[in-house]
Formats: sequence, C-alpha cells, structure tokens
Amino acid sequence: MKIAIYPGSFDPVTNGHLNIIRRAANIFDRLIVCVMVNAGKHPIFSLEERTELLRRVTEDLPNVEIDSTDELLAAYAKRRDCQVVVKGLRATSDFENEFQMALINHKINPDLDTMFLTSEHQYMYLSSSTIKELASYDVDLRDFLPEAIIPDVKKRINSMKTQGGTTHA
Ligand code: ADP
Repeated sequence: MKIAIYPGSFDPVTNGHLNIIRRAANIFDRLIVCVMVNAGKHPIFSLEERTELLRRVTEDLPNVEIDSTDELLAAYAKRRDCQVVVKGLRATSDFENEFQMALINHKINPDLDTMFLTSEHQYMYLSSSTIKELASYDVDLRDFLPEAIIPDVKKRINSMKTQGGTTHA
C-alpha cells in the first residue's frame, strides 16, 4: 500500500491546498494530510482548529486522513510508514526552499522521497497569508477558500481586528 503525506501549516486550508489533496488522493492508496507545528509562524488557528477545518473539507475523500504532529517530518513519516512526501509547487518562489527540504528529509530518512505537484494556474498566486489579508475586507472568498470554512475565517479575522491583533503569517 502506497501511503503519502502532505505536510503544511494549513492556516487555513485554501482551495489551492484542497486541489493538491484531491489530486494526491487519486495517485496514492492513502494520503495523510498532516498539520505541522512551525515555530517560525504565528498561526491564527490552533493546531486543533486547523485539523478540524481540514477534516470538514475532506470528509468526501475516504482515503484521506487528517493528522497533526510536532515531530520532525522525516521521523513522523517513518513512524506512519509513509514512503512519499507530497508538496505543492506554486511558482519558482517555492522551489529553492522545497528543494532544500526534500534533500534534508531524504538524508534523514533515505526511504522517503518527495514528489512535487505543480499548482493549477488559478491557484498559483494563492497562499494562506494572502487570504488572511483579504478576509478582513468585504471580498467574495469563494474562489480562494472552501465554502464550508469561510464563516470561520471571517469570524476569526474580524475578532482579531477588533482586538488589535496581527493577521500576518
Ligand atoms: P502557505 O501558508 O504558504 O499556504 P502551507 O505551509 O500551508 O503554506 O503549505 C503546505 C504545502 O502546500 C506546501 O507544499 C505549499 O507549497 C503548498 N501550497 C500552498 N498553497 C498552494 C497553492 N495555492 N497551490 C499549490 N500548492 C500550494
């Protein structure tokens, strides 16, 4: 059984992420979407909330599992018996960092390979950070976010705005 892992911050999950999830779920027997702790980022949703939002938008995909971890990706993959890491590649800006991560993960866990799925053109410019900027304005977010989570995102951004919080990733 070929098991792949799609790691990320997913703060929140966007239509770009969901497109990669659907395509990867078609390729592998099982796909684990794993919300990772990233000390360098200041998420607006907790790990549990990001996990719940992902579960909500993938409930029609039977071979997709949502999980979270604070482990090193290479160690998590070994423990879960995953052979492949799936990454989405937007433009050249993603490439250098992802290439470096792929080499490091392979060095730590030689059984682990990274596969890149290129973003579809309509999602090429889409990132969770952009969404967090946009969500505080009166903009239709349906092209960017799964409809089921739009109220949650708007609500969180607006409550942060009234508390004077930052929306930067
Ligand atoms: P971001 O906060 O930049 O959206 P994440 O850490 O949540 O990033 O992203 C997880 C993975 O999803 C990464 O491999 C990233 O390159 C990929 N990804 C993010 N947005 C898109 C998109 N719009 N299209 C394709 N892949 C994407």
